[in-house]
Amino acid sequence: MKCPFCREDNDRVVETRLSDDGFIIRRRRACNACRRRFTTYERIEIGKVRVIKRDGTRVPFDRDKIRQGVERACWKRPVRESQITELVAELETSLEGETEVESQLIGEMAMALLRKLDEIAYVRFASVYRKFETAQDFSEALDKMIND
Ligand SMILES: [Zn+2]
Repeated sequence: MKCPFCREDNDRVVETRLSDDGFIIRRRRACNACRRRFTTYERIEIGKVRVIKRDGTRVPFDRDKIRQGVERACWKRPVRESQITELVAELETSLEGETEVESQLIGEMAMALLRKLDEIAYVRFASVYRKFETAQDFSEALDKMIND
């Protein structure tokens, strides 16, 4: 693995841990050249799931796109990088065995997972995802969250 700091391909694993749900292996690595440390994650590779968009077109499932959306929602919230990684992995795992999934379903799944993590991040994600147009939409989502 190339060191992200000095680009040397010379490191050793100093710690290996399995995520709580058992889906991700996290490895803490130390670069033998510059001595800095970095972390890598191993996760289950899912076969090619295709996403059916609202307009009916199909695109390959894009983990990074989901992750970016979640990261944006978690901006300045007390959510760790590793929690986001696990969320995305959990979502991917739920898609295992599927060949085609509607984008709407993926959005709903991401929201459900995000909600367990941080409610503010959840509302932010929902507001972008569901394209809230009015303050009314927003307050309805909040009411729903509080009443559930
Ligand atoms: Zn290095």
